[in-house]
Amino acid sequence: MVSLRQRVEAELEDLQRSGLRISLKVLEAPQAARTAVDGRSVINLASNNYLGFADHPELKARAKEFVERWGVGSGAVRTIAGTLSIHQQLEEQLASFKGTEAALVLQSGFTTNQGVLGALLKEGDTVFSDALNHASIIDGLRLTRAERKVFPHRDVGALEQLLAETSGDGLKLVVTDGVFSMDGDVAPLDRLVEVARRYGATTYVDDAHGSGVLGQAGRGTVHHFGLETSPDVIQVGTLSKAWGGVGGYAAGSAGLRELLINRARPFLFSTSHPPAVVGGLSAALELVVRQPEIVERLWENTRFFRSELRRLGFDTLRSETPIVPVLFGEASAAFEASRQLLAKGIFAVGLGFPTVPRGAARIRNIVTAGHDQEMLEQALAAYREVGRNLALIS
Ligand SMILES: *Cc1c(COP(=O)(O)O)cnc(C)c1O
Repeated sequence: MVSLRQRVEAELEDLQRSGLRISLKVLEAPQAARTAVDGRSVINLASNNYLGFADHPELKARAKEFVERWGVGSGAVRTIAGTLSIHQQLEEQLASFKGTEAALVLQSGFTTNQGVLGALLKEGDTVFSDALNHASIIDGLRLTRAERKVFPHRDVGALEQLLAETSGDGLKLVVTDGVFSMDGDVAPLDRLVEVARRYGATTYVDDAHGSGVLGQAGRGTVHHFGLETSPDVIQVGTLSKAWGGVGGYAAGSAGLRELLINRARPFLFSTSHPPAVVGGLSAALELVVRQPEIVERLWENTRFFRSELRRLGFDTLRSETPIVPVLFGEASAAFEASRQLLAKGIFAVGLGFPTVPRGAARIRNIVTAGHDQEMLEQALAAYREVGRNLALIS
């Protein structure tokens, strides 16, 4: 028999040996373009705070207002007594922003994938999943009885072949991230939807990194490709990245929303958002519609930072978005570079196997609208030195 203590210690040793043990980096100041780590002020290239909303004064003001008016907790799951009118108003606002008939808000992006995939898929259905889809999609699919077929990353031809091989009268669901979180590349959604449609399949897009980033005023990847009114496209995403709060959403038809209210298990069995979160998110959606130039600034910063890194000789992989990886190859090199950058006041996180493939260890930089030119130039100067120290660039 194994005791709890033996189990915990053995597992931790295992992680240590395989180099996978994680230690938490603690921010000692708010989540912003400039923050504090290990007692020093740093330029933050590690967060998903694309629009700088996580500590934005307008969001904070609305969150406080909602606390005063609605209190701190919501007290129940949505289906019992946990739906406040502000929850429904946020969903209407979100549907109108996304250009869909309806939207439903769930606790997080992670639980949204579990809830929506779990509510939709039954035995006899087939899911076609991009090889680089997010962990929450993989876990969500594991909870269903649908058959899973994985297609190589962004490979529309391979997807078509799998669709052609699949018979039966179940639902066929093509599932993809809108923007992929490790490479910063975009799903070829127009071609995916076109192929899916030819085989009677529905397309499901997880737009966690595309929402607030792509499309007019950050309406998302689906909007970027002009597919928002397509009845055979479901979009889900998070409210925890660009939108500066926490939560997930599904946007689509009114019928879909109704089904999710009845069947999405996290929605049914986990308490709804506290008013402060709802207030912040509601202010975020208003703000971006009123000031779409915030998204423009995000893209100007992105273009500048990426092209300068490339000019210095770094490999930024397939990046097409504010997610700008810098390839180091060996995990040890990426982690060393991250340490050296931090010593120069740049907070950027190294990622190795199994988060990314072996030999493709990298630092993932995320540019935000909150960075100014001076911060980006300081980060580039640090990158130049560190790249030379490690003989990655000349
Ligand atoms: C971050 C992310 C999630 C999880 O969203 P949370 O709101 O943080 O739970 C889901 N899907 C994708 C593609 C993500 O990048």
